[in-house]
Amino acid sequence: MRRPLVAGNWKMYTIPAAASELAARIKLDAKSRDLADIAVFPPYLCIPAVVKTLEGSGVEVGAQDMFWEQEGAYTGAISARMIAGSGCSMVLIGHSERRSYFGETDERVLKKTKAALSEGLKPIVCIGESLEQREAGITESVLRTQLIEGIGAINDIGSVTIAYEPVWAIGTGKTATPDQADQTHKYIRGLIAGRWGDKVSRNIRILYGGSVKPDNARSLWEREDIDGFLVGGASLKADSFRDIIDSVK
Ligand code: PEP
Repeated sequence: MRRPLVAGNWKMYTIPAAASELAARIKLDAKSRDLADIAVFPPYLCIPAVVKTLEGSGVEVGAQDMFWEQEGAYTGAISARMIAGSGCSMVLIGHSERRSYFGETDERVLKKTKAALSEGLKPIVCIGESLEQREAGITESVLRTQLIEGIGAINDIGSVTIAYEPVWAIGTGKTATPDQADQTHKYIRGLIAGRWGDKVSRNIRILYGGSVKPDNARSLWEREDIDGFLVGGASLKADSFRDIIDSVK
């Protein structure tokens, strides 16, 4: 059985005080919800406050990106070692906003994922097609390239989670239909089976992300191959994040 995961990506929102308040609300809500794993991804500077607030709650904390070197003269960069050393257990890699605005490539995703695993972090590797790619009918080949170029060279991906996030659904209010999402998750699971075998493909979690809200989460969750959500906007409000977690039962 794959244990569901609901992860909140806070993007470039919140200052430490506000992040800590949001985390405190999530901690209260998480007490009665042990059917899913819960994780939040605050901005780097909010991580210490959020880790402290969530101590003992079981809610995991992660970073939204990382550099692949562990230390060195790389001004402005944050390494997996620093993230793990700050009390995080997870990291997002290859988010579409990193790909669009910060030059993220599949080659870098591979380096980052390797470095994250070597420091004991659990990466969530994000893949997804743009609207033009979907309309051109090349969704599957885009996803295959992102997955295989991104993490295909890693033999043990047991602690990796995949997030399927169609770019056209992120922050746009447009969600993939449950049919579209489930069909795509099945395709991704098939790719995983082809590269790492059936057992790995049965155990790996594939999250859906893209305008998940309390009113669409349940119908997506009911689909066989959707193992939880990566939530952006709706994770910034404790009530809507809690309602999404509640739909995963
Ligand atoms: C995200 O940031 O990964 C995301 C899915 O954002 P939103 O839920 O706002 O579409």
